[in-house]
This record gives sequence, C-alpha cells and structure tokens, in this order.
Amino acid sequence: MIKQEFSRIDPKRRANLNHRQKQFATPAYKDVEYKHRLNFYITPPTADITLEQFEQWAIDRLRVLAELEACSFRNKGTAETATHMKPILEKYLPLSFTTFGSSTQQAERQKDHYSHFILRLAFASTEDLRRRFSRVETMLFRLRFQDEVATDRQAFVKELTLDWEPVSIEERRQYEEELRGASGWEKTRPQEESYFKVDWEKVPELVESRKVFMKGGKAYVPEKDQVSMVVAEFTSKLEKALALTSRALPRLDEDDRLTPILNHLSQNFTTPDSNYSSSNTSISGADISARNVDALSASFPLCMQNLHRSLRRDAHLKHYGRLQYTLFLKGIGLNLEECLIFWRSSFSKITDDVFNKEYRYNVRHAYGDVGGDSNRRGNGYSPFSCQKILTEHPPGPGEANGCPYRHFSMENLTALLQAVGVKDQDVLRGVKEDKEKTKFHLACNRVFEYAHKQEIKKVRDNGTWGAAELETIVHPNEYFKRSYLLKNMGKNPVDGEGRDEDVKMEG
Ligand code: SF4
Repeated sequence: MIKQEFSRIDPKRRANLNHRQKQFATPAYKDVEYKHRLNFYITPPTADITLEQFEQWAIDRLRVLAELEACSFRNKGTAETATHMKPILEKYLPLSFTTFGSSTQQAERQKDHYSHFILRLAFASTEDLRRRFSRVETMLFRLRFQDEVATDRQAFVKELTLDWEPVSIEERRQYEEELRGASGWEKTRPQEESYFKVDWEKVPELVESRKVFMKGGKAYVPEKDQVSMVVAEFTSKLEKALALTSRALPRLDEDDRLTPILNHLSQNFTTPDSNYSSSNTSISGADISARNVDALSASFPLCMQNLHRSLRRDAHLKHYGRLQYTLFLKGIGLNLEECLIFWRSSFSKITDDVFNKEYRYNVRHAYGDVGGDSNRRGNGYSPFSCQKILTEHPPGPGEANGCPYRHFSMENLTALLQAVGVKDQDVLRGVKEDKEKTKFHLACNRVFEYAHKQEIKKVRDNGTWGAAELETIVHPNEYFKRSYLLKNMGKNPVDGEGRDEDVKMEG
C-alpha cells in the first residue's frame, strides 16, 4: 500500500528549542482513566508525553479529519462515509472494544484524547479554522457514536449529566396526540417511550425536519433521536471551548517548543501535505524511459500533463516548470541518464552546446549529481507535493508550473480538462464548485475518480484495494502511481502476461 504521510516539521526548525525552559505554572499531573470509547473532551490532558508523540498523534488525527472532510465535500452518505473511514480510523486512531482497563485500550483512548486537544490548540487561532475543526470533529464524534454498542452508548450519555429534562408520564399523556403526530408513532404509544425536553436551538435538525413536538421554546425529543441531541451538545461545548482556547493562545506563543509544531499542523489542515518517498511511488517492472514518457503521460495529473503539453508545444519550459517536471519524472523512476536524454530531445530547437551549457547542470543538480546546498539530502531534491505546488511559486507570464486547478482561470481549466478527455458536464460542474471553494486537490481527486471509474469499481469489488489505498491523493507522484497501476491492471508490466496481482499497492 502506498504510504502517504502528513509531514512532520523539519527537525532543523527544532534546533534552537530549549526543552528545559519552563513556560507555565507547575501543572498538577494526573493520569486519566478512560471508561468509555467515546469522549466529550471536557477535561484537558495533564500527563507527560514526548514532543514526538505530541506531533505524531496530532498528525494521525489530522489525517483522519482531512479524510472525513474530503468525504463530506464529495457528498458521501453516512453509510458510505462509515465504510470509507473504517480502515483509516483503524490505522490512525483505533479505539478497540477490548476489555476495560487493558493497556492497549487505555493507550488508544489516551491518543484520541490528547490528539484532540493538540489540534484544538492548532486550530483555535482563526474563525475559519475553528469552524472547520468543529465541523469535522463533530462528524467524527457522530460516526463513533453511531458505531458504539447500545449499552455503552447509554452508559456514556448517562454520565454526561446533560441539561435535559425528562418528560413525565402525565405530560406525555397530556400531549399524546401531538407527540404521536410529530414522531410518526403508529404502534408505540408516547407514554411508553422516554422523552427529553431541551431548548429547541439544541436540536435544529429535528426542528427543521418537524420531527419533534415544540412547546414553550422546548423541543420534546424521543429517545430514538437522542443522537441529534448528544451531537448538538458535543458541538456546542466544543465551539465554546475553542473560543476560550483562542483567547489563551497568545500565552502559548511564549512556548517555543510547541508554536512551530502547531503552526505547521494548521498549515497542513489548509492543504494536506505528504512526504515523498521513492520506495512508495516507483513501480517495479514499468518501462520508465525517455522514449516512453509520452505514453506514460496519460497517467499524469493535470499539473504534469500541462507541463508535458507545454513542452511538446514550445519545445521549451521555463526554469520553475522544468524543476517541477524534472523532480516529478525522477519520482516516477526516470533515472538521471534517461532524464537528460528526455530533456535534450524535448528541447529540439537548440544545439547540444546550448543544452549542455544552460540546462544540463540543472537536471543533474535536481538529481543530486552535482551541487551541495542545504536543501540536498544526498540524492537531490524531493518531488514537489500538491501543497508545495499549490502554495509556492505561482506561475508568472509564459510559465507552465503550478496547479491548473488553482492557477488557471475557470475557462482555461475547462479547456484543458476537455483537451485531456474530461468532458462529462457533472464532473466539470463539480470541479468548478471545488475551485470556487478553493478545494483544489479535491477537484483533482474528483477528476481522478472519474478517469478511473471502472478500474476503481473493479479493485473495490474484488477487494484488491481497500479504502486506505484509495485515500485522497495529495501528491502528484501518488496520482501517477495509482493511475498507472489501475490502467495497467491485468497486464504484467514485465513480461506482458495478464495478472491481477500486479495492481496490488505496496509501500
Ligand atoms: Fe497536481 Fe496536486 Fe494540482 Fe492535482 S492537485 S493537479 S496533483 S498539484
């Protein structure tokens, strides 16, 4: 399986942190005993964890939240979202049903508890981040609440001591008709069902869909609709807590251990980043050579297809486009020698001499064959992630680098999509909406899903790929690998024999 990670902060940026520095008053440490899988996150954590745990736990939760947000942007229903999220939750934020008190169970619940509070710090700074955080945390809570065993769910709710007033039998008798009408009861009599009275603002969904009887500003909610009430309480408590946290943030700025990590996390939430690893994105057995780039480009994401098309049209690319494209080609497994052949033959209007003098060095530098600046990691630069392409070096006049979903006008983007074969009006409309909401990488994923619709269905149906292999794409090289594997399903890239196993992802 391809391993796609939200990046950790560059260790160099931690170099001047003083871990001994005391920032706040001495806290009263205490270990929390987690009785339930579900958590309202009322009590902040106080026990010690390492900085590495602090960051990794937050990244794991962020991954879950980003995927949940992507599900909602793609209008996945409740059941579809639950199926999609199951393996992702099991991988990054598991909450097992083991016997109470087991060490694994307590460790899982601790990670869930701490990671929530860490992200609360990271996302309390702006109104937009607070709103998004509260929305996705509410989605996560609802998912888990619905997944919980009924008895445990009741035990959890009982201990919340929420401000709900039980409706007496007399009152249920008095309003029998109204309660029956609102709830749609036919067989059960309202007297036999337990009801709670709550302020109507707390259950807007039920009020809006006229599923509850209202009187004196109170909504009479039957037990079966309790999930709406619990979820509404969760959201309201979280929103208040986030507002309080945002006021406390300036004090945290003094903590130079945490601030860089928190800033990095909130940036990752804006546009998910991904770590590149050549072992994750190269494909063994595929013909990755200069002469085959044209054919391979059918599996490139739009940013790289645009660079490839510009290169073929002009026999030239400006510096930043060359860098973006060279690193991508390196990432798909094109070796330095083949890459030099590719660029030399593509720049067909210039002489060998000019190529050697002006362009050869840059390609070798990108591969780490020459040069030695601080960005080098022994084997040159890493291919750019979507986050980098979306947020750094926007293309200037005559430049083809960047991400078309972000940097093209809607008109030009539509023309490019149509030119590469995306003609479906629903998809184009969806891309337009994603672009308007600045969800550029989701537009890219939408196009990916459209372009590989049949193949995705096949690997889903035969169980070769699960939801974890089809997580949202946040790296152009990941796009290529997934596309290539799907398009070449059933063909053995080495010897041409049909084999479905070829499509299995590794990582
Ligand atoms: Fe390329 Fe990422 Fe933009 Fe897709 S979202 S076109 S992969 S930069």
